[in-house]
Amino acid sequence: MSAPDWYTSGLPHIWLPYSQMKTAPAPLAVRSTRGSLIELQDGRSLIDGVAAWWTACHGYNHPHIRACAEEQLARMPHVMFGGMVHEPALRLASRLAALLAGDLDHVFYTDSGSVAVEVALKMAIQYRINRGETGRTKILSFRGGYHGDTLATMMICDPEEGMHHLFSGVMPSQYIIDLPQDAASSAAFETFLETHADTITAIVVEPLVQGAGGMIFHPPAVLRTLREAADKYGLILILDEIFTGFGRTGSMFASDQAGIVPDIITLSKALTGGTVALAATVARRHIYETFLSDNPEHALMHGPTFMANPFACACANASLDLFEREPRLDQVANLEAALSEQLEPCRTLPGVRDVRVMGAIGVVEMEHIADPATLRTRFIAEGVWIRPFRNIIYLTPAFTITANELSALTSAIQRVLSCG
Ligand SMILES: *Cc1c(COP(=O)(O)O)cnc(C)c1O
Repeated sequence: MSAPDWYTSGLPHIWLPYSQMKTAPAPLAVRSTRGSLIELQDGRSLIDGVAAWWTACHGYNHPHIRACAEEQLARMPHVMFGGMVHEPALRLASRLAALLAGDLDHVFYTDSGSVAVEVALKMAIQYRINRGETGRTKILSFRGGYHGDTLATMMICDPEEGMHHLFSGVMPSQYIIDLPQDAASSAAFETFLETHADTITAIVVEPLVQGAGGMIFHPPAVLRTLREAADKYGLILILDEIFTGFGRTGSMFASDQAGIVPDIITLSKALTGGTVALAATVARRHIYETFLSDNPEHALMHGPTFMANPFACACANASLDLFEREPRLDQVANLEAALSEQLEPCRTLPGVRDVRVMGAIGVVEMEHIADPATLRTRFIAEGVWIRPFRNIIYLTPAFTITANELSALTSAIQRVLSCG
């Protein structure tokens, strides 16, 4: 079947993400989505192993989200949030506050994960300014971390991860060290804080799983170490749960597994169940209260045009309904067991360095992948959508994926790796 007119005439005008446009393989033309299926323009359909960059946790086109979205679209797609509020945003804020641990009660909406992290950084820096503390503007983050693609979030991503190193030196450098996981890294972490804590305002970390940095796991004890250090040195602990939030690691939030309460948390990816862009930065009371003042300069000066978009908030509320009505976390537990069982045989295949699973995340780490794009093409030929990056092949399916669809994904990985 020849490519449709919109494809051939539109493609020359499109600049794709993370792609060398000179050599990138032609992108797939998608017509529609349904459940865990991506239906292509040419009639093929692919089983989705990625859930639209980890967002579509209920599968695509869930009828409940669609019904709520259509209702909201008819009533009010958007209205400005400057001086006005509406039911979808306020209901969502109180639901998030109830779901999140402790007094994480104050919700600031944005429309992408990177900007949610930027807002968290602004909150952490202005927290010091509003308290009259000077000299504490640095951010401490960790090797293997990923927090976004905007200029400020690039400063706190792993400098070696290969996406942003071209920009080193453009923005002021921040502190990036190893997560305190073993005796040596814990000692180095402690020494680092003894020397530098008085220049730092906040620690930023992705709890339990460093996602885009390589799907690297760490145990909950690491988060308790960070919480203790933050308390000891008066630092703000920011947990970036943009990837891990909403069940992906097996609990509603990854931080729940460590039993800690961060001072600020960032949420996005699965917030609307993969329907539309929305993000939130949620702060605890003691952070929020630092911004309450008779001095107008102490207000948080941030306000995205589409902040708290009612349509997006309605989709997020519908997604939270589904976490209440359907057995999502049980499905994640079943996925964890199935992924472990079905990916384990990959461990002995040529070039495999590690196999690991947490919640609905399954990872096959290779010694080396010569060309991730070629590997992707081989998966497409197998009828699955799996998008390897660097030396990582991973599955982050919808929590509602069927057993047959899941085994189609894992057996495609086994088959492709067996052929070398
Ligand atoms: C995806 C991601 C971001 C960035 O979110 P965008 O919506 O792509 O800007 C930030 N932090 C983490 C942990 C992420 O996984």
